[in-house]
Amino acid sequence: MRGRLEDPAEITYRLDFENAPLDHGSIEELFARACAEWSAVAPVGFRPAAEGDGAGVTVSFERATHGRCRPFGIDTAVAHTGPIGAQTYIHIDHGRAWKRDGLREGQFIPLYQTFLHELGHVLGLGHSPDPAALMSTNPQTERVERSDRDGVRTLYGGGRPGPNDYRVRPDDPEGAVLYGLRVEGTTEGGFFDTDGDGTDELLLWRMDAPGFGQLVAFFFDRRGRPLRTTGPRFGFVDGTAEISFAVTDEKERFLILTYPNGHRIGYVFDGQGAPSSFTGELPAPNRTSHRRLEGDLDGDDRDESVLH
Ligand SMILES: [Zn+2]
Ligand SMILES: [Zn+2]
Repeated sequence: MRGRLEDPAEITYRLDFENAPLDHGSIEELFARACAEWSAVAPVGFRPAAEGDGAGVTVSFERATHGRCRPFGIDTAVAHTGPIGAQTYIHIDHGRAWKRDGLREGQFIPLYQTFLHELGHVLGLGHSPDPAALMSTNPQTERVERSDRDGVRTLYGGGRPGPNDYRVRPDDPEGAVLYGLRVEGTTEGGFFDTDGDGTDELLLWRMDAPGFGQLVAFFFDRRGRPLRTTGPRFGFVDGTAEISFAVTDEKERFLILTYPNGHRIGYVFDGQGAPSSFTGELPAPNRTSHRRLEGDLDGDDRDESVLH
C-alpha cells in the first residue's frame, strides 16, 4: 500500500486527449469502465471533473521526457501514477503501441488494463507479490483480482470479513480489517515501533515456501486505520529462529533472530522503519510483544489488539 485517500467516495478525473493514441470516445469508455470495476468491489467512486474545476486525477499521454517525471523508456514502465493525494496524475507513455483491451501481445499494450492498474495506484495500492494480481508488476489479467480486492478493502472497507483476515480492535465496529492476509499456519505477527515515531506498526511474517522469510509492516494513522505498508521484504525472518525485538538506550531499534543453538543475527531499523543487516554486537531482546498481537497503533499509550 502506498497510502490512503481521505475521501475516496467521489474522486474526480479529467482526460487530456493531446497525443491520444485512440479515438477520444474509446479512451473515455475504457477509463470509465476501469473506474467502475474498482467501484464494484469497494466503496470508492469516480466521476469526470466539472468544467473549470480542478481534477483529483489528471490522465495524460506524455512523451519520453516530460515534466519532472522519470522519463519513459528508461525502464519497462508504460505508465506511472503520481503521489497519492487529493490531486494526482496518471501519465501514459504515448510512444508505445496501444490497443484497446485484452492482454499484452508483443509490443501491443492494452490501454484498459493499464488504466485499471494505474487506478489501483491512485487508490493507494502498491505492487503485489501475487503473480495473479492486477497490481503485479507484469499483470496477466484485465480484472481486479482477489488480492487486489483484499488490498483496496483493507484501505477503505467493503466486503465481508473472512477467516483469513486480521481484525484490528475486534470489539470496535469501526476497527480496520486487514483482508486475506492470514495464510493458515504460516503467518505470524507482532507489534513494534519500527520507525521510532511513538506508534507501533503491525509486522506480519510468513514462513511458507512461496512467502518464505517475507516481512510486511503495516503503518496506521492516529485513528488506527491502515495507512501504508512497507515490504514485502524477503529473507528477514526464519521459521527456525525465535523472533524478538530490542530498543537500546540510544533508541536504536532491532529485529533479532535467535536460533536454537544460541546463534543470533539481527537487523537495525532506520527512521523510515526499513531494516538492514547489522554486524555489530546485538543488544539483548527487550521487547516481548512478538506473537502477542497487541500494540499501540495510534500513540495513545493504550494497546489495541488484533484478532485472527
Ligand atoms: Zn510522468
Ligand atoms: Zn504499477
